[in-house]
Amino acid sequence: MASSTRVDLDGNPIKPITICMIGAGGFIGSHLCEKLMSETPHKVLAVDVYNDKIRHLLEPASLPWADRIQFHRINIKHDSRLEGLIKMADLTINLAAICTPADYNTRPLDTIYSNFIDALPVVKYCSENNKRLIHFSTCEVYGKTVGCFLPTDSPLRQDPAYYVLKEDASPCIFGPIEKQRWSYACAKQLIERLIYAEGAENGLEFTIVRPFNWIGPRMDFIPGIDGPTEGVPRVLACFSNNLLRREPLNLVDGGQSQRTFIYIKDAIEAILLMIENPARANGHIFNVGNPNNEVTVRQLAEMMTQVYSKVSGESALETPTIDVSSKEFYGEGYDDSDKRIPDMTIINKQLGWKPKTSLWDLLESTLTYQHRTYAEAVKKAMSKPVAS
Ligand code: NAD
Ligand code: UDP
Repeated sequence: MASSTRVDLDGNPIKPITICMIGAGGFIGSHLCEKLMSETPHKVLAVDVYNDKIRHLLEPASLPWADRIQFHRINIKHDSRLEGLIKMADLTINLAAICTPADYNTRPLDTIYSNFIDALPVVKYCSENNKRLIHFSTCEVYGKTVGCFLPTDSPLRQDPAYYVLKEDASPCIFGPIEKQRWSYACAKQLIERLIYAEGAENGLEFTIVRPFNWIGPRMDFIPGIDGPTEGVPRVLACFSNNLLRREPLNLVDGGQSQRTFIYIKDAIEAILLMIENPARANGHIFNVGNPNNEVTVRQLAEMMTQVYSKVSGESALETPTIDVSSKEFYGEGYDDSDKRIPDMTIINKQLGWKPKTSLWDLLESTLTYQHRTYAEAVKKAMSKPVAS
């Protein structure tokens, strides 16, 4: 539990604060609430439409932090209580968003409203009431790398200047409007620009976070078990679902895209530093990722197959992957980021933070959780006769 002698990076004592956390019931929010409850004295006003992922922090009332977390079931699209909660808090953290790629091209209006329009009142209330804001954006605002436009055999493709993504230097490169994949990135970019402008013109104290593929327990859902049967979650849950069902993993367009994956618990350490070191975090945009954990999606599928076999004790499938076109998998208007390596200079300088966990280790703990949580339920669901 939190002791009163905790100090910030400059040696000053940390005062307990109240945080209005919007989207607290999601994947990142649940881990952040857990960290704040178990290691700090701060209070959380947890706002979301769901609370399943934080129920273990809300009940029973005998939990040691019971008086430091309150759940408010609020849809921020239309609820006048939001401004009151932001006024009551010292800091607002906005995580609420539609943020699964399968939605970007199939529900572009909902995506744009969720990531831009619905975030506007949050920015406005923080600015008008002089409250600090930590806003969750995305690494996807970088879009594609400059290097991907070079000829495939160009030696410049090996030069980090053509692919490492820097907060204060890299351009944001999206595809054409008909590629509706970019509706999310574009909405996130515009809200970033608005927050930045509120800082410049009206003195809003803000921090913008650009997560690079954070993964871990409680991410998304397993279709047909704790989410819609036809739903398409992000890649960790898609591949987990395939592994649990002993189906081959789908490699979209050959699985050639590259990603860097970071363990949620490493990333949450960075957010706690931002919360508790406002003088070092305000006015900054931070990449939060692990540049050492880069793989192609094909390599990720192979590694997850190996790790799952180890943690479940089941043999790996003879044909562990199959290729599928993006049109078949995601529908019309899908497009992809080719490569995402975060530059870590700014976060390192401001907060002295570095990620720690290797890809193998983070997959081992995450897939152990997936197996423990879902294997029985999936077996049961698969043994039920299919309605004809
Ligand atoms: P998530 O979907 O698990 O969490 C988002 C939460 O926001 C959900 O619980 C949802 O119910 C809530 N929410 C959405 N609309 C709401 C509304 N109108 N009112 C109240 N609550 C609402 O997603 P996550 O992975 O935890 O992501 C959190 C944030 O981080 C998002 O802004 C996302 O764009 C950003 N992000 C995450 C990643 C990642 O790797 N997980 C990568 C890039 C960006
Ligand atoms: N992907 C895949 N098979 C799946 C799900 C995703 O090949 O079953 C690919 C997807 O096309 C993308 C990458 O995995 O190239 C990461 O997808 P994710 O959903 O995690 O979102 P993104 O990183 O693109 O934001």
